[in-house]
Amino acid sequence: MRFHQAESAFFVFIFVILAAGLVMLHAYDYLHTAAGEDQGFFTPDNVEHLTKLVLATGVLLATALFFGMFFIYPLIRRQAKEEGKLRAMTETLSARSETMEQAALTDSLTGMQNRRYFDDALKEYIEEFRRIGKPVGLMILDLDHFKQVNDTHGHDVGDQVLKAVANCLKDMTRYHDVVARLGGEEFAVVTPNMDADLLAKFAERIRKAIANMSVLSGNVRLKITTSVGLAVWDSAETAEDFYRRADRQLYEAKRQGRNRVCA
Ligand code: GH3
Ligand code: MG
Ligand code: MG
Repeated sequence: MRFHQAESAFFVFIFVILAAGLVMLHAYDYLHTAAGEDQGFFTPDNVEHLTKLVLATGVLLATALFFGMFFIYPLIRRQAKEEGKLRAMTETLSARSETMEQAALTDSLTGMQNRRYFDDALKEYIEEFRRIGKPVGLMILDLDHFKQVNDTHGHDVGDQVLKAVANCLKDMTRYHDVVARLGGEEFAVVTPNMDADLLAKFAERIRKAIANMSVLSGNVRLKITTSVGLAVWDSAETAEDFYRRADRQLYEAKRQGRNRVCA
């Protein structure tokens, strides 16, 4: 078994104290025996021997004190410091991994949840709502003719439009809705506790809000519209099938001429 430096130092310290204790014990015993002898207590021999014992005790205690002050105490201090540094490092590391985890689930342009988060959340919501037997709605939105926005006004303006749409979606949704950017100019909202009727009304409000929005590009006010596909979970299908159903409705909205909601 290997001892840590501080442990070894501690054992030496205890050993020296113990040795001092033994010498003291011996001195005590010697004192008693000598006191019982006939020729008197303080014979030169007794005194010399006792002096040696007391001296030895003093030396041992001084050694223990010296050892404790100049070796054990600095060791403990150093260890405490190292521990503090280590703790700070662990905290930084765990904060960093939290940030990384957060980054892996967040869209960097809009600050919204990303596709990965959406996929997991949709599965989790379905599991939960299977258990409680309530409806879950899904809305997929795709901006209309967005390529033209980029081509006409530039990619930066396109980015500004995406951010504006993201803010609009964040403002209009409830806190337990999952709002995500699926990629490009496509967004999705998972709406728990919404049946087909409520979902259609909600989607229509969002479509109108986006259509009424305008993004300033130089001195041009830019208008954008969006097509929306809806589905309400049928309480049996998988998340993938549920998504596909909403996506087919989005395709249908595009086919019918865009800037509309299809369910
Ligand atoms: P549709 O109405 O059929 O949806 O037409 P669309 O032009 O919106 O669709 P299309 O898929 O042809 O083009 C999508 C465009 O979105 C193409 C791409 O340059 C743009 N885009 C994707 N991601 C970003 C982005 O992060 N920033 C910007 N500015 N543009 C993006
Ligand atoms: Mg698209
Ligand atoms: Mg589009």
